[in-house]
Amino acid sequence: MRFYVCRDRESGKPFRVAVVGAGPAGLAAAGHLACKGYEVHVYDKMPEGGGMVAFAIPEARIPISSVRAGVRALEELGVNFHFRTKVIYDSPKELGDEWAEHFVSIERLLGEFDAILIATGAWRPRKLKVPGVELPGVYDALRLLHDIKLARLGYRSWHKVPDLKGKHVLVIGAGYTAVDVVLEAKLLGAEKVTMAYRRSIEHSYAKNEIRKYIQEGVEFIEYATPVRILGDERVEAVEFAKTKIVEGSVLTTDERFIIDADVIAYAIGQLPTSPIREVMCASEKILQDVGIFFAGDVVAPRNIGTAIRGGKAAAHKIEEWLLRKAPRRVFPIAATTRLIGDVMRGRC
Ligand SMILES: Cc1cc2nc3c(=O)[nH]c(=O)nc-3n(C[C@H](O)[C@H](O)[C@H](O)COP(=O)(O)OP(=O)(O)OC[C@H]3O[C@@H](n4cnc5c(N)ncnc54)[C@H](O)[C@@H]3O)c2cc1C
Repeated sequence: MRFYVCRDRESGKPFRVAVVGAGPAGLAAAGHLACKGYEVHVYDKMPEGGGMVAFAIPEARIPISSVRAGVRALEELGVNFHFRTKVIYDSPKELGDEWAEHFVSIERLLGEFDAILIATGAWRPRKLKVPGVELPGVYDALRLLHDIKLARLGYRSWHKVPDLKGKHVLVIGAGYTAVDVVLEAKLLGAEKVTMAYRRSIEHSYAKNEIRKYIQEGVEFIEYATPVRILGDERVEAVEFAKTKIVEGSVLTTDERFIIDADVIAYAIGQLPTSPIREVMCASEKILQDVGIFFAGDVVAPRNIGTAIRGGKAAAHKIEEWLLRKAPRRVFPIAATTRLIGDVMRGRC
């Protein structure tokens, strides 16, 4: 998997850039900047690069060997990697934090680098808020895929992964994550897989994959939203409400039905995880003025292509900024740190 193709590496430039996050966005930006001759250091809390592609997308779809080859190409280009290193400012605990052995503050990076790119993705799953969600057997799909991938890569034992063999797995949602749970459930021996979605298959951007799975026996229930998870010791069934779409919005009706299931995985969206929390609320422009840029899912969760394009676009902006502003050091470090504090207090 190529994150950046450098045809002709330019000679060294006197600027250092820190990239936080070694997913497709951060890697594409790192490749571009290294190719242009900048000194680039990439920090990631995980033990290796690739982001969601390495640590969530099933091995059967994108093999780790191809991700590793892409990261190796960047190393050969001169990109410096600091894995198991979490960059912090005011970030809460998130998925994958247990891999971090080192912690570096944004303030320290501001002191050591001329610009920072934050490309930390969207690692916080949106929680399903219905009664019964805490019952054993109910999983957030991103965590489930992450645990399965860690086991497949040999980072963790399979004990953390629920036994899906012979089970009825009910997946709530119809995006990439939901579809990948279907794939893994089938590979791990689930007897039956059902997907339930509050809109129609036509509304899902993964509709082609879903159609393929329907042909292979997966049941797809449209216009259904969970209202309650049922069970005593562990999950036994889900009560759904029928939905209808009115002027583009999903409305819940009074019609109810119940589906039995042994395992539930909900994949109802992911939220951006930035070390500068809530930074997107109107402060991005201000942070850019002090040399802090953003790219990829942390701006808006989408896909690999948009993340790579976003990373390259951010690298262009960083270069432009470095060449115009950094030599003048308009904002000394103390002022920059104070400014971030002001942004956090005043605007978010
Ligand atoms: C299950 C699943 C399946 C998908 N399938 C597809 C698909 O088929 N096609 C497609 O185009 N897209 C797919 N996507 C979406 C795609 O993976 C993402 O859009 C893409 O990976 C986003 O890239 P990114 O670089 O912005 O973020 P990420 O890939 O999320 O990378 C962010 C990186 O930042 C690191 N990080 C986070 N916080 C910190 C911190 N504070 N300090 C240090 N490091 C940090 C993380 O460890 C991670 O490595 C899928 C996503 C999921 C979850």
